[in-house]
Amino acid sequence: MTDLMRELMFINGKEVESVSGKWIEVENPSKRGKIFAEVPYSNKQDVDMAVEAAADAFKTWKTTSYPQRGVILLKIADAVQAAFKDLAGTVACENGNAFKYVCGEAMNAGEKFRYYGGLATELKGTVYPGPNDAFLYTRREPLGVVAAITPWNSPLGLAAAKIGPALLTGNTIVLKVPSTAPVGAMRMVKIANQYLPPGVLNVITGPGAECGEALASHPLVSKITFTGSTETGKRLLHIAADRVIASTMELGGKNPQIVYPDSDQDYVVNGVIATVRINRMGQSCSSGSRIYIHRSIFDSFVERMALKLGTMKLGDACDDTVDIGPIASRQQFMKVSSFIEAAKKEGKAKLVCGGLPPETGPLAEGYFIEPTLFTCQDNDTLLAKDEIFGPVMVAIPWDDEEEVLRMANDTPYGLVAYIWTHDAGKAMNAAHAINAGSILINYWGPPTEGHPYGGMKESGIGREHSLEGILENYTELKAVTVNMNYPPK
Ligand code: NAP
Repeated sequence: MTDLMRELMFINGKEVESVSGKWIEVENPSKRGKIFAEVPYSNKQDVDMAVEAAADAFKTWKTTSYPQRGVILLKIADAVQAAFKDLAGTVACENGNAFKYVCGEAMNAGEKFRYYGGLATELKGTVYPGPNDAFLYTRREPLGVVAAITPWNSPLGLAAAKIGPALLTGNTIVLKVPSTAPVGAMRMVKIANQYLPPGVLNVITGPGAECGEALASHPLVSKITFTGSTETGKRLLHIAADRVIASTMELGGKNPQIVYPDSDQDYVVNGVIATVRINRMGQSCSSGSRIYIHRSIFDSFVERMALKLGTMKLGDACDDTVDIGPIASRQQFMKVSSFIEAAKKEGKAKLVCGGLPPETGPLAEGYFIEPTLFTCQDNDTLLAKDEIFGPVMVAIPWDDEEEVLRMANDTPYGLVAYIWTHDAGKAMNAAHAINAGSILINYWGPPTEGHPYGGMKESGIGREHSLEGILENYTELKAVTVNMNYPPK
């Protein structure tokens, strides 16, 4: 018996342990070796129960009206936002994102439910021209049981982005949360369930390769929606192809920032650092970790970046004065450290600040790595190629626009790109030339609800966070033809 906090799964309206009776430990990354909580280690049998409950609940949920579902989502939005501090405190202890930042994520998760609830009466069908004696229209119908699999870096926001549209459109859902940071999202699901019939929204925990694959391959699942690494996304696409079911893939990124010569200002320095998503240790698919700075301002811009990075406070993620917490897990910490080590060995880039993690002192108590900035004379370095998913960035000088756009596109990914200039024409030309799903010009905020989000190339398939995304990803289009002259007069 343990006195550790145990968070249970939620299946068919009830809290449940796993059939195996085994548990997964969730470590607090601010304090190496300190276990924050345990969650059930579920296997195929648990997955079967969750999917069967969702399939059963679908029979009734799909017949509720859009306005009814909208009202429920609006209630969930209020309840999630009322609990934002508890949710943020939980996530800070499990994935190390600084409490300050996670408060924003928790509020934003509530905002997502509000956005989807507000769209309830906007999911319309269409009437089509046809023969005079026929009436042709389409309906948007739900798909059935949605399998949703999410990562640890924004566990609340990314779960809300899948639950909201799936439920609004009349689907039911089984959410598999990440083993590294499951508890916050599980609590959010339980808050939402106060307003939902049993089985409509279920949450399970377990290792991806076992529980996630069993979920995605389940014969009663009609749709896979996944956010996570490109490698896992490819595996899930094979599973979806074998079953001929729909899938949406929000995958990795290695996002460029282009700083034009008119941008040598503190505003842009702050913006560039913010879009590295440094307050989440760069652990974001949209991290702008390849920073192309015009040669005429390169040295002074890099110097200002290093100064600014040096002012940020690292520490225990649960401390509300801290700007940057630790890396989310030991595994991720080892991976990021090995990239820094490899970059040093490669010898192409010069270290400006940060570097390998401290081995002594308070920061050695957690998985901390200081913000690490390298410079390199060209794109030919592993720092510009691989998705490091940590607080490691590389600045590269450029001289002409054609060259920088080629470097920006020289990647298998295509998620986000950032452009910094006062020249609107240049910015728009660059925006159209870069192969990425989202382009942010002089803007450093997160994606806005209603504005489609998703990747090109190996960054994914499909768009979420929008009306178009909901219709495309969570409904099936049915075409109905009615003979208006039957019975004949
Ligand atoms: P990951 O290893 O692919 O894991 C993501 C989720 O998939 C976790 O719940 C994981 O479960 C599960 N999983 C792992 N292997 C699986 C398998 N074979 N079958 C089914 N499920 C499986 O990714 P991560 O390291 O958690 O997240 C970081 C990645 O997510 C980065 O590449 C980042 O760019 C990407 N991301 C993309 C977006 C976007 O919108 N494009 C947003 C955020 C993050 P367990 O962890 O429990 O094993």
